Amino acid sequence: MGKILVFAEHTNGKLKRSSQELLQAAAASGNTVVAVAFGSHAGDVTAALGHNGASEVHVVKDASLDAYNPEAFTANIAAIIGKVQPTIILASASSTGKDLFPRVAARLGVGVASDCTTLTISGDNVTAVKPMYSGKCFATVNFENSAVKIVLMRANQLPVAAADTSKTANVVEHAAAAADLKTLIKEIVKGASEKLDLTEANIVVSGGRGLKEAANFKILNDLADVLGATVGASRAVVDAGWVGHGMQVGQTGKTVAPTLYIAVGISGAIQHLAGMSGSKVIVAINSDANAPIFQKATYGIVGDALDIVPKLTEEFKKA
Ligand code: FAD
Repeated sequence: MGKILVFAEHTNGKLKRSSQELLQAAAASGNTVVAVAFGSHAGDVTAALGHNGASEVHVVKDASLDAYNPEAFTANIAAIIGKVQPTIILASASSTGKDLFPRVAARLGVGVASDCTTLTISGDNVTAVKPMYSGKCFATVNFENSAVKIVLMRANQLPVAAADTSKTANVVEHAAAAADLKTLIKEIVKGASEKLDLTEANIVVSGGRGLKEAANFKILNDLADVLGATVGASRAVVDAGWVGHGMQVGQTGKTVAPTLYIAVGISGAIQHLAGMSGSKVIVAINSDANAPIFQKATYGIVGDALDIVPKLTEEFKKA
């Protein structure tokens, strides 16, 4: 048995569900679980890391690591990997994970499997499955001759049990490692309409060109408010400037796997399906009974979204 290093993502000290999934999967494998967290709020997340299975937590509580910076994060994670000497590294296939860990893998000369949907850990060996060609086929990935195996998992793919608050972790603090910075984050502008991180959301309500105009996203926002959902979008409406790119679901947007995905006025192009076909239940609302989205949908409603969505919102309000 070796050590599994889990890169913990958090929002101002609140652990993300995707990291909880990884910690619990790592702990279930019987390996020693070591977590790493960055940023001035990293100290606030150490208890949750222990509750979810980490026995040791490495933190760099430096404000320079509050926002993702490729060079700074690479230098700091590489320094901690050098100290911890893990055999497996698990991280979320978030935009941060997908940018950071190929850099880390290149620096260490080891393998990385990105965007995986299943994970099997047996001792020091790890096998992962990842969708390819927009989900048309699946590759099973094993590591050969890789001293460290890095796996980046999509969110919402692994079960999460209640955290065990009796478990605690030893906390090791580090000063920020020196990094040759080529990128400077000057400002972070949050999309006003993005309430929860789409990739973490349990329910997603997405809108497409069938909504006719940007103002009609209001009916999706109303439905999302009642359901506690996050609003997503197809690329067509992002390209049209109706909503920001942060809301785009699909091959060139975000990958989501919520319990419930409601596609409103979305045709179901392969590039859109690539980002949401892992959803547990898919409900499609479309005026065209032959729209491809219905081939993927668990439930379909044929009709005018502008008529149906407000009625659904009213019904859910009663529930
Ligand atoms: P449309 O295809 O125009 O579909 C609109 C749907 O609304 C139709 O099915 C129509 O029947 C229905 N409709 C019309 N009126 C109503 C009504 N009143 N009520 C209900 N339904 C109605 N797309 C993505 O989404 N995400 C991506 O990441 C992405 N990446 C891409 C990458 C590449 C390289 C390429 C080439 C394309 C990509 N696309 C992506 C674009 C994709 O191919 C489609 O063009 C896009 O998904 C279509 O968006 P849409 O379904 O909103 O619009």
